[in-house]
Amino acid sequence: NSEKEIDIRNLDNYSKKHFPLCMKHLHETLRASHHLKHDSRLQYGLFLKAIGVRFDDALEFWREEFTKIMDNDKFEKNYSYNVKHAYGKVGSMVNYSPFSCLKIIMGSVGAGDHHGCPFKHWDASLVKRKMMDCGVASEGIESILALVKNGHFQIACTKYFEFTHSLQAPSTTINHPNQFFEESINIATG
Ligand code: SF4
Repeated sequence: NSEKEIDIRNLDNYSKKHFPLCMKHLHETLRASHHLKHDSRLQYGLFLKAIGVRFDDALEFWREEFTKIMDNDKFEKNYSYNVKHAYGKVGSMVNYSPFSCLKIIMGSVGAGDHHGCPFKHWDASLVKRKMMDCGVASEGIESILALVKNGHFQIACTKYFEFTHSLQAPSTTINHPNQFFEESINIATG
């Protein structure tokens, strides 16, 4: 758990600059469609908690998006419990851990789902397009696609980190989305 608190108003900026692709995709999908399915909410919600988003802010964040497509009663009834649960406020009051890369990579992802690891679960053409959108240089894209093809998803993610951080490598191969975030923030803050 991070001791730092995140200003929720800067989340779009954090997503753009510091999130790994799995979480950036969930964030952008939520902003665009104002909805995420259960497994996506769990993967993203626990990540947000671990980067330091406070419970109250998290609840308002999800409410703000979901109530663009449903009324507040429906949100309260069907979705607010999930957020409370993720923060250990209800149910067994467990303090759930954010998912590691391995857990995300091994998870099952169906058509139309947005959770999972892009390097494992997306078509190569989509990975390529996303890499271009993120400004990864063409030699970076080539090596990332080769790694993906050989099943080296976390090394591909590590390469992505390098090519989006002026070729600075993380301390170790990326093994956790929250590691990606923290190392990215460390580079930005020096
Ligand atoms: Fe996310 Fe890990 Fe996949 Fe990177 S390797 S996109 S951090 S699940």
